[in-house]
Amino acid sequence: MSSYDVVIIGSGPGGYVAAIRCAQLGMKTAIIEKYNTLGGTCLNVGCIPSKALLDSSEHYHNALHNFDEHGIEVTGLKPNLQQMINRKNDVVSQTCAGVKFLMDKNKIDVHAGVGSFKDKNTIEVKDGKGKTSSLTSKNVIIATGSKPNYFPGMEPDKKRIITSTEALKLKEIPKKMLVIGGGVIGLELGSVYARLGSEIEVIEFAPTIIPTMDGTLGKELTKVLKKEGFKFNLDHRVQKVENKGKSVVLTALNKKGEEVTFEADYCLVAVGRKPYTEGLNLEAAGLSVNQRGQVDVNDHLQTSVPNIYAIGDVVRGAMLAHKAEEEGVYVAELLAGQKPHLNYNLIPGVVYTWPEVAAVGKTEEELKAAGVDYKVGSFPIKALGRARASMDTAGLIKILASAETDEVLGVHMIAPRAADLIMEAVTAMEYRASAEDIARICHPHPTYSEAVKEAALDATEKRALHV
Ligand code: FAD
Ligand code: NAD
Repeated sequence: MSSYDVVIIGSGPGGYVAAIRCAQLGMKTAIIEKYNTLGGTCLNVGCIPSKALLDSSEHYHNALHNFDEHGIEVTGLKPNLQQMINRKNDVVSQTCAGVKFLMDKNKIDVHAGVGSFKDKNTIEVKDGKGKTSSLTSKNVIIATGSKPNYFPGMEPDKKRIITSTEALKLKEIPKKMLVIGGGVIGLELGSVYARLGSEIEVIEFAPTIIPTMDGTLGKELTKVLKKEGFKFNLDHRVQKVENKGKSVVLTALNKKGEEVTFEADYCLVAVGRKPYTEGLNLEAAGLSVNQRGQVDVNDHLQTSVPNIYAIGDVVRGAMLAHKAEEEGVYVAELLAGQKPHLNYNLIPGVVYTWPEVAAVGKTEEELKAAGVDYKVGSFPIKALGRARASMDTAGLIKILASAETDEVLGVHMIAPRAADLIMEAVTAMEYRASAEDIARICHPHPTYSEAVKEAALDATEKRALHV
């Protein structure tokens, strides 16, 4: 029986990053993964493949709609979905192989198979051929992630009623795709197929898309995506979706309670994800899951069994790769006797539509609800010379700052390269900058980042320069 200082179950961004940090800190470390490749949801069927397809479809969309204005003439343009998927698969393989390399480099033992608790210090690993081995460990980190969620009546059959996993490997470009859920997955994967020519119709339960983000972003993104051909049905309660062979039929109740039906060739179910603990045999370690299926943890990501920790999608909080990574580092450093720190208020969120949507800190709705006295600064992207040069004029940047101290409390943007731009806000907020601090920093010209400065100027004293 092999024995370790720490055994990590699950090799997603939470698990593999935790493993690297544990090894760096001198712990004898093992990681268990049931899939054939390392990297979890993020690398195999999440962040990386979706961004690969978003990039390919964006190139096609630009070639189709924007090249002529740039003075580039193209004839015979057509999308080759199979090649896009082949390229995506290559990107995934290379990235997963990179994780294996990192495990070897850091001398982390990789055990292939399903990990399940025998007791709080013993994990059994059952491989694909049914062979079982046992590992003992002083500490265990559960990093088993999540799976697509669905509600009664919308069970995916993975053929025409699909989840994100199948949407990443379709054999044809749908003529029409229904998307249940106007959240991150629905809008990102909806964008991929809208750009390739599919008609996309979103059926969303809430009165807005991306309902957990600042309301301004949902409104602005709706405008942008409608131009790309998206149709939105908000305030709709899905009753059932049926595979009719060559089509799917979805029945929903609209805001007035009337029954409405939609027909398409595919239906993507994107109503969130649920924590995954199947096969872990948590009970043997003295653990159970809460009502939401999560493993409960305290502020130090420790479960009720002191030597067992849990991180990432399987615990409370945002289901994001970078949140899982930070939690992995946190637990590793805690186990090494350090005093790590993690600021959940400063975990940025990004939606990779074009333009991208990104946010950090409090939304205007949250500040209102908390009775905080705040001021708003904003700047339209179309006022930037850089944006006119690249023909990316949609969007805005909004900065919320304390009315009393001018401290930046939230930054919300829909802008070209917002996924990268948001890091200026995260850094500023980590150092508790005021809007004026950002406004007084020299930003390079011409860049999209000038919109951050201008929004900060607007928040400071309503003195944006270029609007
Ligand atoms: P996971 O990545 O889910 O990894 C868990 C691993 O544990 C899996 O490999 C699983 O096989 C393994 N496992 C489970 N049980 C066992 C067991 N008993 N024994 C052995 N192994 C086990 N997040 C972002 O931040 N940015 C994005 O752009 C983004 N895009 C996404 C796009 C899509 C389509 C999807 C679905 C998700 C996306 N996410 C994105 C979310 C992101 O993928 C997750 O938040 C992240 O992967 C969570 O990491 P994790 O380590 O907690 O779990
Ligand atoms: P989500 O929570 O982002 O969106 C789900 C949407 O479905 C919400 O708008 C919700 O109101 C709606 N909804 C819920 N029940 C519904 C119903 N019965 N009928 C109609 N609409 C309904 O979830 P997601 O898009 O499935 O993504 C899952 C997770 O993966 C998210 O937590 C997200 O953080 C993560 N993810 C992140 C990224 C990224 O960071 N760019 C990309 C993809 C996924």
